[in-house]
Amino acid sequence: MIYADNAATTKMSDAAAETMLYVIRESYGNPSSLYAVGQRAKEIVEDARRDIASAIGAEPREIVFTSGGSEADNQAILSAAELGKRSGKTHVISSAFEHHAVLHTLKKLEKQGFEITLLDVHEDGIVRPEEVEAAIREDTCLVTIMYANNEIGTIQPIREIGAICRKHGVLFHTDAVQAVGHIPVNVVDDNIDLLSSSAHKFHGPKGVGFLYARKGVRLSNLIEGGAQERGKRAGTENVPGIAAMATALKEAEAKIIENSALISEKRDRLIRGLSEISHSALNGDKQKRLPGNVSFCFEGIEGESLLLLLDDRGICASSGSACTSGSLDPSHVLLAIGRVHDVAHGSLRLTIDETLSDDDVDYIVSSVKEVVGYLRGFSPIWRDLCAGKKQFIL
Ligand SMILES: *Cc1c(COP(=O)(O)O)cnc(C)c1O
Repeated sequence: MIYADNAATTKMSDAAAETMLYVIRESYGNPSSLYAVGQRAKEIVEDARRDIASAIGAEPREIVFTSGGSEADNQAILSAAELGKRSGKTHVISSAFEHHAVLHTLKKLEKQGFEITLLDVHEDGIVRPEEVEAAIREDTCLVTIMYANNEIGTIQPIREIGAICRKHGVLFHTDAVQAVGHIPVNVVDDNIDLLSSSAHKFHGPKGVGFLYARKGVRLSNLIEGGAQERGKRAGTENVPGIAAMATALKEAEAKIIENSALISEKRDRLIRGLSEISHSALNGDKQKRLPGNVSFCFEGIEGESLLLLLDDRGICASSGSACTSGSLDPSHVLLAIGRVHDVAHGSLRLTIDETLSDDDVDYIVSSVKEVVGYLRGFSPIWRDLCAGKKQFIL
């Protein structure tokens, strides 16, 4: 089997799995308990906090552990909105191709009377810093722009956007779930106030993540209860998950430069191979993209059938985001970069890691070529395109 869906989730690294098992077996105490086995669990959580903070250039007290990226996004945005409301600021700026954890939270704010501006991401899938600046108003309380897109992999000019927000005194949140552990991220250099991350996207366990909140940015809590996480996130800590997340992130950071170079090479080999398919196009900027992301549209086919036939050949891929699979609507991300419905339906996302060999790359390319040809063979849309009844777009 070739696993090429690392943007949906990653396999846990052996080291992370070992840490998790060790903590489950040996350090099962409650970090809030006073006896030794509890205090040992607390130490494990605090060590993990230090390691994670250091990986992104933060201080340990600026890290709050959550159940994952979605929770971190919700808490970051709702906290900034709460702070804004207190000073009469109820305008939020974001982009059209954010993850649903962001977009649905913004919808909720809209119902509460907030005004939301969603910026265009252009054909290359990149938000323009000058358009962020132009959208900032007197009553803007938050700008939230993702670090890298989960479907098309484009990396945003986060440092520039952060600098603009700082200049205007507006809080800046970034959903960095696809970036952390894959490309260098530093919250100080990048002028970030709030950042979301999730362990299962960098070879850690599922159901655990963290929110970075710069010192002085007051968080509101989504979950009421105990005083864990300095009162910002009640509930007994997921000690095994937190420890394993720190192991996975340390490991990823140690080889981030080496791995991203290696993975980018394979990515570009895939892109070259798939570009040979007629009436196809890469989605998003060719250079400013995550090392492991390859996203294509093929005219005249259905992405769903493509995925099933690739699965038959032992290739795990996706059409866009795992969250929208099963729905018949085309991806909001592909529509945001200007793909029309018909074209957006024929999408394929391959997200690879360093374990993919050159032979795997070649096998993927030949399989996709074969399957796309086969599907076009009995596609009514393809027939119309070839007969000139419809215009090719790609
Ligand atoms: C996966 C993902 C999330 C959600 O993270 P979970 O830990 O699964 O809740 C949020 N944002 C982006 C960009 C993602 O890729």
